[in-house]
Amino acid sequence: MSQKVRVRFAPSPTGPLHIGGVRTALYNYLFAKAHGGDFLLRIEDTDQTRYVEGAEGYIVEALHWLSIPFDEGPGKEGSVGPYKQSERKHLYRQYADRLVTEGKAYYAFDTSEDLNEHRKNHEAQGKTFIYNWHNRLKLENSLSLSPEAVEEKLSNGEEYVIRFKSPEGETLLLKDIIRGDIEIDTNTLDDKVLFKSDGMPTYHLANIVDDHLMEITHVIRGEEWLPSLALHQQLYDAFGWQAPAFAHLPLILKPSGKGKLSKRDGEMGGFPVFPLQWNGENETYAGYREEGYLPEAVVNMLAFLGWNPGTEEEFFSLEALTEVFSLERVHKAGAKFDPKKTKWFQHHYLQEMDERLLTGRFQALLQQKGVSGTLDTQKIVSLLKERATFVEDLWEQGSFFYEAPQSYDEKAAQKAFKSDTKEILQQVKNLTERTDTFTSEALSETIKGWITQQEMGFGKVMMPLRLALVGEMKGPDVFDIMALLGKKESLQRIERTIQHLS
Ligand code: GLU
Repeated sequence: MSQKVRVRFAPSPTGPLHIGGVRTALYNYLFAKAHGGDFLLRIEDTDQTRYVEGAEGYIVEALHWLSIPFDEGPGKEGSVGPYKQSERKHLYRQYADRLVTEGKAYYAFDTSEDLNEHRKNHEAQGKTFIYNWHNRLKLENSLSLSPEAVEEKLSNGEEYVIRFKSPEGETLLLKDIIRGDIEIDTNTLDDKVLFKSDGMPTYHLANIVDDHLMEITHVIRGEEWLPSLALHQQLYDAFGWQAPAFAHLPLILKPSGKGKLSKRDGEMGGFPVFPLQWNGENETYAGYREEGYLPEAVVNMLAFLGWNPGTEEEFFSLEALTEVFSLERVHKAGAKFDPKKTKWFQHHYLQEMDERLLTGRFQALLQQKGVSGTLDTQKIVSLLKERATFVEDLWEQGSFFYEAPQSYDEKAAQKAFKSDTKEILQQVKNLTERTDTFTSEALSETIKGWITQQEMGFGKVMMPLRLALVGEMKGPDVFDIMALLGKKESLQRIERTIQHLS
């Protein structure tokens, strides 16, 4: 195949981009880059009734946050633009007309009341009404009416749609890279509307005309579009165009595996199902970015939602993914969403993050909380980060560095504070006072040496000391904490505990 690979992500701006849509974008991007091809963004906004303000900007921002750049798209014009269907409106009508002229499509004048009536009548008889070969001649269209009657209706300005004339009694062979071959009996298909009475094409017509004009070689999209494939293939055939290859991605399932992942699942399960926070008119949805996730973690998680590399390796950067990704390794079965796994990836990428960068983020958080001080933030970060999944966890784990304990964890205090603790802490305070090079090593040597010499249990000293410094039984090594706090602050905290015990 010498043709350059060109793929597109074609969302409709009807609200915030669901995480499943982000996966579609990612797989398209990876496939394009794996083949040295182009990744296009096309905004499918022909359905004016479902247009939502801000949705397009949201899509672009989400792709930007995840570092999934498009080669051509709105604001990045290539040679086949514009990339917004509403700006291509003038293009579609001629294609619908061409099919009518060639007898492959027809005008239909049926009103929605008429059609509802037919549906009701069918239902009453336990049947389903389908507008196709079966009954199209009994309906109001240019196949059933005389040419004169059609002419009259058209010149009277009666409303009509253009429908595709789906053939009778044929078997279609559809090919899908992920699903293999699919056979469809055309008798089960309906005559889909290609052009609406409002002067706009439907999704189907605009979608295939644009894929053709934009020289798309592979259509990679969600499984929910599989039922449209028969019509799309027929449209390519009707126009005499070479159809792109198709790959329909597996559904994304609830963590339980029972049913499709929905917005509700996120709200109930306490995990985002959107890349960025969405502040709609009536609803707000949590986003991965605002919840503190790193884009690397989200990309890695999404890559594995329906695909695997065939090895044990689980950590892949975007760049590494472009080297190993293939559609052949995308599976058919639905992919279970796993919020715990996402956190696991997040923990990994937080550890991998450049420490100065991480320190910068932590500093920003401290500023937000109005915390200042002279402590060595980078050291604190390096001591705490192993236990942290999010930047926010650094605060959770390490706020005691900035705020001396005001009280002591009750349960721990019961265990740690004994009748001789006050005396012991007094001794530790003296030893601390006498330690000149105030490093973790020096403190450890002095205090541990003393404990050994006294033939005392370590817990007897270390537990109250930790409580004095932290207020709870958590945090990194006690001597690391003391060294970081410095002599004065360490002494103050020990003294406060002594007071507390008096
Ligand atoms: N506009 C469709 C969507 O919102 C695009 C489907 C396709 O990729 O063909 O998902």
